[in-house]
Amino acid sequence: MEKTSDLTSGENQRTGDPRNSLDLTGTVRSRIIAFQEKINAKKVRAAVKPKLPAGGEGKVVFYFTSLRGVRRTFEDCCAVRVILRGYAVRVDERDVSMHGGFKEELASLLGPRYGGCKLPRVFANGRYLGGVEEIRQLHDAGELGEALEGCEEVVRGKDDSCHGCGGVRFVPCEGCSGSCKVYVEEDATEYGGFRRCPECNENGLVRCSVCCAG
Ligand SMILES: [Zn+2]
Ligand SMILES: [Zn+2]
Repeated sequence: MEKTSDLTSGENQRTGDPRNSLDLTGTVRSRIIAFQEKINAKKVRAAVKPKLPAGGEGKVVFYFTSLRGVRRTFEDCCAVRVILRGYAVRVDERDVSMHGGFKEELASLLGPRYGGCKLPRVFANGRYLGGVEEIRQLHDAGELGEALEGCEEVVRGKDDSCHGCGGVRFVPCEGCSGSCKVYVEEDATEYGGFRRCPECNENGLVRCSVCCAG
C-alpha cells in the first residue's frame, strides 16, 4: 500500500472493503496527480514570467527613451510607438531618459537576463509583451489587437494634445522650480539649508498630472 492510500482510505481498510478502498485510492491518486501538474505548471510560469509594472492594469505600459544617443534604440522606440498609436489604446509612456526611476523599475521587472533591459519594452494590461521584435511580429501577424485586449480605448489624438505637458508626460516641479533643491528653515532638530526636493526626479521633473494620473 502506498502512503497516500494509508492516509486517505484508512477508514475503508478498517471496514475491510478492498474494492471500495481501491476505487478511492484511484480517485485520490488522480486528484493528487492533477494537483501536482497544476503546481508544476505554475512553477514553470513563475520562472519565465516577469514581474509586472505597478499601475499597469487596463493600459499599455511603454518603456522607451526619447534620447537619440543610440540610433537603433531610438528608431525601435519610435517604430513601436507608431504601431501602438494605431491601436488607439491608452498608453502609459515611461521615458527612461526623463526619469531614471523608470530604468530601475524596468531592471527590477525584467532582471538582467533580458539583454540589459534593451528598449523599448511593452506591457499590456499587466502582461509582458516584449520588445520591438515581438511587437512587430504580433502586429504583422494581426495578433496585436488581441494582445492589447483589456486595455482602455482612447480617442485618437487625445494623448498628443495634453494641455498639461504638451505630450512630454513630465512638467517642471513646482516645489523647487526644477532646481531639485528646497530651502528648509532652521528648527530645533535640524540645521537650516538646502535639501533635495522630495517631489521630483533627478531632472527636476514630475509626471504630468493631466495625462499620467492613475
Ligand atoms: Zn500631460
Ligand atoms: Zn522638485
